[in-house]
Amino acid sequence: MIYFDNSATTRPYKEVVDLVAKLSWEEFGNPASLHSFGMRAERILEQSRKQLAHTIRAEPEEIIFTSGGTESINFAIKGSAEANKRSGRHILSTPIEHPAALESLKVLEGMGFEVEMLGVDGMGRIDTWELKKKIRKDTILVNIMMVNNETGVIQPVEEAGNIIKSANPDAVFHVDAVQAYGKLPIDTRKIKADIMSFSAHKIHGPRGVGMMYLRRGAKIRPIMSGGGQEKQYRSGTVNVPGIAGFACAALKKVGQMDEDNRNIRRVRERLIDELQRRMPEIIRINSPEDGLPGILSVSFSKVKSEVILHALELNEIYVSSGSACSSKKNSISHVIKAMNIPAPWSDGVIRFSFCGDNTEDEAVACAEALEGIMNTFTL
Ligand code: PLP
Repeated sequence: MIYFDNSATTRPYKEVVDLVAKLSWEEFGNPASLHSFGMRAERILEQSRKQLAHTIRAEPEEIIFTSGGTESINFAIKGSAEANKRSGRHILSTPIEHPAALESLKVLEGMGFEVEMLGVDGMGRIDTWELKKKIRKDTILVNIMMVNNETGVIQPVEEAGNIIKSANPDAVFHVDAVQAYGKLPIDTRKIKADIMSFSAHKIHGPRGVGMMYLRRGAKIRPIMSGGGQEKQYRSGTVNVPGIAGFACAALKKVGQMDEDNRNIRRVRERLIDELQRRMPEIIRINSPEDGLPGILSVSFSKVKSEVILHALELNEIYVSSGSACSSKKNSISHVIKAMNIPAPWSDGVIRFSFCGDNTEDEAVACAEALEGIMNTFTL
């Protein structure tokens, strides 16, 4: 099997699976319990919080655990709009965000907030000059993803943070860092974000675990009512084994980030070379050269995405059409649309996404299979 769908999800590291299983069995106490068994779970929770905070140069008190990227993003967007609505109703974002953000913004629009989108160029990149022009005194939230999940384009979030904070220091800046974490260095002291969202399963951690970085003093209202766990921000019994698994995956992934990226770059370049050699006229690379090496979007002009995806599957090669979230809907993805990618390149888009374990041999085998598929379907 060749798994080139690591942006959809990753295989958990073996040590993560072992740790989660061990803690689920041995340390099943509730960290909110007052007895010593609960306190043992609390110690594991706080140790994990410290380790995860360290990977993004944050303080442990600035980490709130959630059930994943989607929950963190919903909380960040809806919770900060709710907490700041007396200061204004204007929100800025980009059209290529993950559906977790776009759908949350739609909900806010329905409540009377004014959501304005920044434009993106043919590579999906925002123009910080436009951000400077559009940010207003009544802007309460700016929402920009760090890395796009379909193309790997990297947004200038550090520059955006500087612009936002000098134009309107009260505007909340939320950065979706789900695809960036463990693949690019993240320093919360450099990026002037008030809130950042993260997910464990994109970095070989367990499913259904995430975290939110919440800068001290950032104004946000909880969206979950309940027992007041996580300093009242996120009610619900805390998933201690999952969080410990997240910390275990993060320490390993961040620690070997440079080595993984070097390997991933080799696999990516080999796949591009092989495709360009075998079928130069019918492919278009949609991802920018300076994007995240682990995500490669390629258009095939003659065959539709679903046909390619399922034909590759018959060869036990797993990829994605656009993103996993949009791939079940039979339409051109919102990211490809926003980038203005013209026909015939907008139909047959395939996303290859790599991890540190992928090899150049797999890239060659994938290109070979694609050549066979193109020959079969374009005859
Ligand atoms: N944000 C981005 C950029 C993503 O790629 C994803 C997952 O595909 C999410 C958010 C959602 O994360 P989760 O699957 O943890 O809910």
